[in-house]
Amino acid sequence: MEIKTDLTTNHSTRQTQKIKEENPEEYDNVRKMVAYGSKLAHSSVERACLLGAVQYTSVAYDHNYSMRGQDLEEAIQKDIEEGLIPFCVVATLGTTSCCSFDNLKEIGEVCQKFDLWLHVDAAYAGSAFICEETRHHKSGIELADSFNFNPHKWLLIQFDCSAVWIKDKIKLSNAFRVDPLYLQHENQSPNFPRQEKFLYLGRRFRSIKLWFTFRTFGVNAFQKHIRTSIQMADYFANLVTSNDNFELFRPQSMGLVCFRAKGSNDQNKELLARLNGTREIHLTPSEIDETYFLRLAICSTKTTYKDLDKAFELNLKHFKDLRETPDK
Ligand SMILES: *Cc1c(COP(=O)(O)O)cnc(C)c1O
Repeated sequence: MEIKTDLTTNHSTRQTQKIKEENPEEYDNVRKMVAYGSKLAHSSVERACLLGAVQYTSVAYDHNYSMRGQDLEEAIQKDIEEGLIPFCVVATLGTTSCCSFDNLKEIGEVCQKFDLWLHVDAAYAGSAFICEETRHHKSGIELADSFNFNPHKWLLIQFDCSAVWIKDKIKLSNAFRVDPLYLQHENQSPNFPRQEKFLYLGRRFRSIKLWFTFRTFGVNAFQKHIRTSIQMADYFANLVTSNDNFELFRPQSMGLVCFRAKGSNDQNKELLARLNGTREIHLTPSEIDETYFLRLAICSTKTTYKDLDKAFELNLKHFKDLRETPDK
């Protein structure tokens, strides 16, 4: 199912989109504030900029699909010269497309230089930091202002649960300060009232399920789950590389294997359609630098090595079929 964002439903966004199309220079006046993220940042980053009525500049990545300090700085300089006002950078640890890691240390230094808020999006890979051996990926984290990860993705928590950490909560609170009489009460924390923490006021008590899951499983079980997922990804990657018909798009990262049949993009699209059509397996694709590839992610405790063998067999079978009967 394709979900289209209907920008026309929001009047201010509609107006600014209109200005952008008809009069780009005026658009820069309407929206001078600009946020940055890698070209591989999740679409929600750009969408947040739409909602917040600010501009968004996407920054190139290097040969490891990692956003680097120098490319970021060049993008910022260029925008400043054009009269824009940089205010925020979103670094991704574990991109959705291929689980690459932006260079947080370099990016953090650029943010310090220009006094920009540094947010870290570790929605998927953040759960892995419960294991010491993955923590080199977050080197530079001390420079971040906020950090977000989704325990519902890879930490055994029931959907939905997205946790955010903020270095200086007073800054956040001051940015959204409103203080109506009906929300004041004697037990509120004076510097950070509840209504200033979130966009919404009424909300579910999600932390309780985190607490219960932590208490039930304990840290060792979480670590084991992460390590097993990564080992299973290594196993599937080995199946891919030891077969002449398939190749890795890039080495597996965390529990994600990005791979493709050795063939054209169209053949890989057809392969995916046939695989998902079996209803025995469901993979999602991505495309980087005009190379289309398939993604297999291991997140569930229920996945077995047998499932992975089966998944690879299906790939092989359908790729062979496809070459024999391309127009099925
Ligand atoms: C999954 C993912 C998201 C989206 O998370 P939601 O909580 O569903 O909005 C954002 N960023 C990255 C890097 C992701 O992998």
